[in-house]
Amino acid sequence: MKALIYQGPSKNSLSEHAKPEIIEPTDAIVKMTKTTICGTDLHILKGDVATCKPGRILGHEGVGIVETIGPAVSIFKPGDHVLISCVSACGRCEYCRRQMFSHCTTGGWILGNTIDGTQAEFVRIPYADNSLYPIPDGADEDALVMLSDILPTGFECGVLNGKITPGSTVAIVGSGPIGLAALLTAQFFSPGEIIMIDLDDNRLEVAKRFGATATINSRDGKAAEAVMKLTGNRGVDTAIEAVGIPTTFVLCGEIIAAGGTIANIGVHGGKVDLHLEKLWDRNIFITTRLVDTVSTPMLLKILQAKKIDPTRLITHHFKLADILQAYETFAHAADTRALKVIIDA
Ligand SMILES: [Zn+2]
Ligand SMILES: [Zn+2]
Repeated sequence: MKALIYQGPSKNSLSEHAKPEIIEPTDAIVKMTKTTICGTDLHILKGDVATCKPGRILGHEGVGIVETIGPAVSIFKPGDHVLISCVSACGRCEYCRRQMFSHCTTGGWILGNTIDGTQAEFVRIPYADNSLYPIPDGADEDALVMLSDILPTGFECGVLNGKITPGSTVAIVGSGPIGLAALLTAQFFSPGEIIMIDLDDNRLEVAKRFGATATINSRDGKAAEAVMKLTGNRGVDTAIEAVGIPTTFVLCGEIIAAGGTIANIGVHGGKVDLHLEKLWDRNIFITTRLVDTVSTPMLLKILQAKKIDPTRLITHHFKLADILQAYETFAHAADTRALKVIIDA
């Protein structure tokens, strides 16, 4: 089968690879219909993710059709149309019993990281009963791909951890796919203001269309002053960090109101300053999280009820045969205006 394979820093290839087989009784083999590329895949390509070794098939998102199941899989059968969660969960370990699936002792984020992923014609899904979701007939597959990772990530790590409440003031630092997913799902809670901050005017335009009440281009280094002006010098109740670099986290500390919450989503590859000399008396919370995908069943319902349209995040479509071009397009988002790219397997 064809698969996108990580070949070491800055190198990937579309190559022939052996089709996956059932290894554990709880596995399923899924024939991919659609997948996508995540910002995390670009981190892997930069060499930032030490657990992902050369030779690995990348990808942790997508939808497909169950082809074969191991003898212990009871919920799914061949032919079932399924959504693949980016997090695999055994359902039995201490962390799974606490709904912290991201820290499953034998699962978590392993797809396209420590085991072969979804950017291929077929994928082996461990713990299939807990890691796949049935999808209703006629559901929009493109929209569903957004539920593998970015929607639950924006919602759980940003919106839920950020404790957004009706009428509250929110700033989202980073208007890429994850920041925009947080923007879409923040609106479940009717915050009074949502301020989007980014360096890219195109992405800020998109944010406005998605419901941002104000946008700030931080290129001049004065985003904190701009937020203070917009909030009557009070700051924001929730500051969501959706980039993963030191300056954006520090900015969250500069704009957080007393009693507020800084919710980090970004994948940080280096150390970041925490200005406790300014924050120690501000009654704030700082949260971090790897997505647990506990909100996926709720997001599936809200999608079916047409209360959210995640296809608005999709800017490009490619065939699996053209996935290298898809990576180029996704990696050069400032020029290509790419948000999420759909890859038809
Ligand atoms: Zn991802
Ligand atoms: Zn577990």
